[in-house]
Amino acid sequence: MGRRHPPRRAAGDRAAGDRAGVQPLGRDQVEQGTDGLDYRVRRIAGARAIKIYRCPGCDHEIAIGVAHVVVWPVSEGQDRGVEDRRHWHTPCWSNRANRSPTRRWS
Ligand SMILES: [Zn+2]
Repeated sequence: MGRRHPPRRAAGDRAAGDRAGVQPLGRDQVEQGTDGLDYRVRRIAGARAIKIYRCPGCDHEIAIGVAHVVVWPVSEGQDRGVEDRRHWHTPCWSNRANRSPTRRWS
């Protein structure tokens, strides 16, 4: 007889790393702005967008009911600019680094 040892998969290690790369919903993220500073980014659901804001990315209004982000500067984990919050369209914030002074494709 003789028992066969099926080949084992390398380390079935699932405990660590499961959460890596997962962005928790409803929590703030910290992202870097085009000026190199860190900014806290909070996602606002459409249902909570109850005022009109002006987006600094495109200089257009963010209408009521439109999901968007609120961004303010942080430094070493401290909120520095709670009074300096800016409401951005989500795509405008995402594309902030891609905006170049020369608008070649408009
Ligand atoms: Zn915008």
